[in-house]
Amino acid sequence: MTTTTRRLGSIDELGFSAVLSDLDGVVYRGEVAVPGAVERFNRWQSEGVPYCFVTNNAEKSAAAFANKLSTLGIACTAEQVVTSGDVALEFVSGKYAPGAGLYVIGTQAFKARVAECGFALVERDAVAVLVALDRSFDYAMMTAALGNILGGADLIGTNPDLIRPLADGFEPGAGAITASIAAASGATPMFMGKPDPTIIHTAMARLGVSAADAIMIGDKLDTDILAGQRAGVTSIFVETGVPIDAHSTVLPDYLLARL
Ligand SMILES: [Mg+2]
Repeated sequence: MTTTTRRLGSIDELGFSAVLSDLDGVVYRGEVAVPGAVERFNRWQSEGVPYCFVTNNAEKSAAAFANKLSTLGIACTAEQVVTSGDVALEFVSGKYAPGAGLYVIGTQAFKARVAECGFALVERDAVAVLVALDRSFDYAMMTAALGNILGGADLIGTNPDLIRPLADGFEPGAGAITASIAAASGATPMFMGKPDPTIIHTAMARLGVSAADAIMIGDKLDTDILAGQRAGVTSIFVETGVPIDAHSTVLPDYLLARL
């Protein structure tokens, strides 16, 4: 754990041979690229520095995120994206029997992936309530989640993020939905995604690199930076996303105004 944080003028001041990076607030905000990000990843691409994106956003598949990045001008394959949804599906596949019923809050794309993993999408008598970002989340869904948890279901959040940066402001994250269900039910949620280091380990395995070779770039101390630290990777906080949380006890190795 770092005890001092150094401000960088440019990321070129650091020596590293692989890059792990968050997406929201680092590469783009909503549908708009963060200034400098596309150029920076293009430079790493041309220099042969491998990169992999690790996102707590489970709205889309890795392939859909790779598509979005390609549209913005960053060369990216589905293999170069690990989502908290991927980590969550791996976790539930290891924990529950094939065919078990899950009450899922999330996009149609996420529900389709849960079904592809062999789980039944149910409204009641679920073994777990699995929560991803769902902009249609409402009181009826909170009630259904509560009923399942009172019946013994686990509460699993794809990520703990309470807030997400948009092009012109912020929106509540999936963690805020999970927190509302936790408040009503008294359940303690299990959270997938960052700051759990599993997603970082998965990304390093994809690139075939070790923690000593890699840097982790993010805009949230309690998720991106903490996950990097737990995986033993040098951490860089960029100031293009969520405002820095002055109450966090997590200190990044480096601060950077922009990529
Ligand atoms: Mg972010």
